[in-house]
Amino acid sequence: MEHQSQKILIVDDDPIIRQYLREAIELLGHEVQTASGRDSFKDAYETFKPDVILLDLIMPETDGAELLKFLAASHCEIPVALMSGLDDRALRAAKRIGNSHGLRMLGGLEKPFNGTALKEMLSRTGAEKNELEAQNLLEAIDRGELRLYYQPQVCASDGRLVGAEALLRWQHPEYGMLLPGYFLELAKEPEMICSITRWVCTSALAQLGQWRRQGIEMTLSINLSSADTLAASFPCWLRDLAAENGVDPGQVILEVTEQDASTYSEQSKEVLTRLRLKGFQLAIDDFGTGYSSLAMLQRVPFGELKIDRCFIMDSAEDLESRKIVEVMVTLGQSLGLRTVAEGVEDEPTLELVRSLGIDMIQGYYTGRPMPADSFMRGFHRCASARQIG
Ligand code: C2E
Ligand code: MG
Ligand code: MG
Repeated sequence: MEHQSQKILIVDDDPIIRQYLREAIELLGHEVQTASGRDSFKDAYETFKPDVILLDLIMPETDGAELLKFLAASHCEIPVALMSGLDDRALRAAKRIGNSHGLRMLGGLEKPFNGTALKEMLSRTGAEKNELEAQNLLEAIDRGELRLYYQPQVCASDGRLVGAEALLRWQHPEYGMLLPGYFLELAKEPEMICSITRWVCTSALAQLGQWRRQGIEMTLSINLSSADTLAASFPCWLRDLAAENGVDPGQVILEVTEQDASTYSEQSKEVLTRLRLKGFQLAIDDFGTGYSSLAMLQRVPFGELKIDRCFIMDSAEDLESRKIVEVMVTLGQSLGLRTVAEGVEDEPTLELVRSLGIDMIQGYYTGRPMPADSFMRGFHRCASARQIG
């Protein structure tokens, strides 16, 4: 199996264990940062942005369960492995707490550690997807294991919540909550990806209809694959679905990636145009990564341009990224498109993209992807804060 270097955050109060694990993990070719307690953990979690967290269950000023709750509250999607000098039962109980909060829990590591168990566990985080097969994903739809998370989109000028993007998750019985990067590529057959899109649209529009009945007006963005744009029946199907749920098609933004769009056949352009004629909005996603020709922006009736996060994330520090973002914003504005900055993770980036005249923000700084109920709690908090303020 090909080796992938990962960023590992070790949280343990014992300096000897931290040092031992650091050396063992660095020898395996991974990058390591350590934290000794609650505050240094929260700092490292925000700044180091680990791929995996190794968490001690028992520490003097805090415990693993408290930190798991913190991770759950910040909608952490990184796999977490627990370490403990206690027996296997205590590890399993704590793992259940993590799972019940929707975290991606890996198997526990019992102290004293053995190098083979450590290596096996770290290789599992990179290998999971190799074990998953298309058949499992198909069964996951039937077994009701797919979930939608919603990430807020806020207006850049006044911070108002104006929309959300629906993002797919797989609540895997063994591996926990999986991100689309782990499993979407399993859906190679067009029929399979179309069934997933139909599941996504059905759930997302039902949710949007429910929010609308509660008096909440906002847009909802849904990601399409290139197979969807080849299905001639899709526009009418989606129009009927919107009508059934009492949703105005104008509230639904269909996203296609720039990469997919750059290879579109006439048939795909026609399907997208028909969707637009039925009132749905169209967005071009991950803009800047797909090498499309500008003519494509002219030929497909897009209304929104989403700048890829690889440019946004560096833009506050890297002059080249900033210049690229500047040009993309100008391009979007001059074509009359709404511009969205994806991947805004901190205040300096927010200030920068605001100053460049971006219309909307979608990033961890203003809200991570989260289940519908947390999304609504956030919305109500945000609304009451505005009334008070
Ligand atoms: P995308 O459509 O560009 O979605 C945005 C991705 O950026 C999401 O990743 C989101 O969690 C992540 N993101 C947002 N803000 C930040 C930030 O501030 N920092 C960082 N580091 N990341 C941020 P996610 O959910 O893993 O989705 C990845 C991709 O999978 C999506 O990229 C989209 O292309 C695809 N995808 C997700 N849901 C669906 C779906 O229902 N259908 C299809 N066909 N594709 C989907
Ligand atoms: Mg998207
Ligand atoms: Mg994107």
